[in-house]
Amino acid sequence: MNIHEYQAKSLLKQAGIAVPAGCVARDVDAAMKAAEELGLPVVVKAQIHAGGRGKAGGVRMCRALEEVNRAASGLLGHVLVTAQTGSEGKTVHTLYIERAQPIARELYLSLLIDRDAEAVALVASTDGGTDIEEVAASHPERIFARPLQHGPSDVLPDLADFLSLPVGQVEPLVGSLYRLFVDKDCSLIELNPLIVNDQGGLVALDAKIAFDDNALFRHPELEAMRDPLEEDPREREARKFGLNYIALDGRIGCMVNGAGLAMATMDIIQLKGDRPANFLDVGGGVTEEAVAEAFRLLLGDVHVRSILVNIFGGIVRCDIIARGLLEAVKTHPMRVPVVMRLVGTNEQEGRRLVKQAGLDVRWAGNLDEAAEMAVAAAREGDPS
Ligand code: GDP
Ligand code: MN
Repeated sequence: MNIHEYQAKSLLKQAGIAVPAGCVARDVDAAMKAAEELGLPVVVKAQIHAGGRGKAGGVRMCRALEEVNRAASGLLGHVLVTAQTGSEGKTVHTLYIERAQPIARELYLSLLIDRDAEAVALVASTDGGTDIEEVAASHPERIFARPLQHGPSDVLPDLADFLSLPVGQVEPLVGSLYRLFVDKDCSLIELNPLIVNDQGGLVALDAKIAFDDNALFRHPELEAMRDPLEEDPREREARKFGLNYIALDGRIGCMVNGAGLAMATMDIIQLKGDRPANFLDVGGGVTEEAVAEAFRLLLGDVHVRSILVNIFGGIVRCDIIARGLLEAVKTHPMRVPVVMRLVGTNEQEGRRLVKQAGLDVRWAGNLDEAAEMAVAAAREGDPS
C-alpha cells in the first residue's frame, strides 16, 4: 500500500526526522488560510500517489497569496500527468502546503527491500532531486547502494563520507529511518530530495513510503491512511469479494485458481505474443458470487479483448466457475470471446452447465492450447 507525501511526513516527524511545517488543504480557501498561517513563501504540492510532480507543474513555489490562489485552483480537481502516472494522469483531490525551504544541497536517500541480499538496502546519492533516474542511468558511480545485513551501523562511516556529512549527523537520521522501516513493515522509504538547508540541517523535503500489504493486518493505524481515491476501482471492487486481483496493462483477461498457476498463465500469454490484462487468483474457497464478480470485472473492462479461464479444479469446483459465469452474463453480456480450460473436480458438470446455457465458449484441452486460442481471439478484434 502507498500513502501520500503528507502522511509519510507525519510518520517521519513522529520518528524524529525533520520535515518542513505544512498543512493539508482540500479547497482553495483552506490553501490560502494555510499559507497565511505558515507564512510566505510556501510550496503548494499536489498529493497524488505518483512522483515526477515537480516537472509536471504539481509542485509550485508561491511568494504571494495571489499565487497560492492560482496554484490551488489550477491543481485541485484537475488531472496531473507526470512521468509516473501513465498518460491518463491522476486527479488531484488534496494539496499539501509547506513553508518553503532554502536549499544548499539536494541529496537522495532511500531504504528498500533487497530480495537478492535478503536484507533492507540503503541507497543514497549526492545528486538528489528531480533528475535522480537520469543520474542512476548515466552515472551509476554517483549512487551508493549497500545491503544492511546487520542494521545500518556498519555502513554509516562510508555513507557519511560519500555524502560529505559528519557521521554524527547521518547516524540519527539513518537510525530513525531504519527503525521506522522495520517497525511499520515498509517496503520502501524514499527521501528525494533530502536537503541540506542553509543552516547545514538535514530536512526531508519529499517523502514516499510504501508498506508490505501482507503485514497491514498488524498496523490498523496505517490501514486507516488508505486513500480509496488513489486505488484502481477494479482492485477495490475485487478486494471486497476477497479476490486476489491486480490490474495490468495488457488485453487478455485472466481467471485462474492458484497464484502459481496464475503466474504461469500470464507467462504463457506473453510467450504466445500478447499481454495479460490482469492477475487474478480466485483462490480455493471461492464462492459462485465471487466468481460472478470476477467475470463481471473482466467483462466490464474495456481493455479486455478476450478472456482466458484456466481452472485446474482441486478444491475449486468447475461447476462453481460455470455457475459464476452464468450469473455474470445476466448483467454483463459476453462481448469478447471466452476461452475455457476447465479440468478437475466436477469438470463434466461445469461444461454441461455452460453448454446448456448456450454460451459461445471456446473449449481448450490444455494450457498451451488455451493461451494460443485466447491470443488468437484477441487478435480477431484488431483492425486489419
Ligand atoms: P516530485 O517531483 O514529485 O518528486 O516532488 P518534490 O517534492 O521532490 O519536489 C520537486 C522539486 O521541487 C524538488 O526537488 C525541489 O527542487 C523543489 N522544491 C520542493 N520544495 C521546495 C522548497 O521548499 N524550496 C525549494 N527551494 N525548492 C523546493
Ligand atoms: Mn521528489
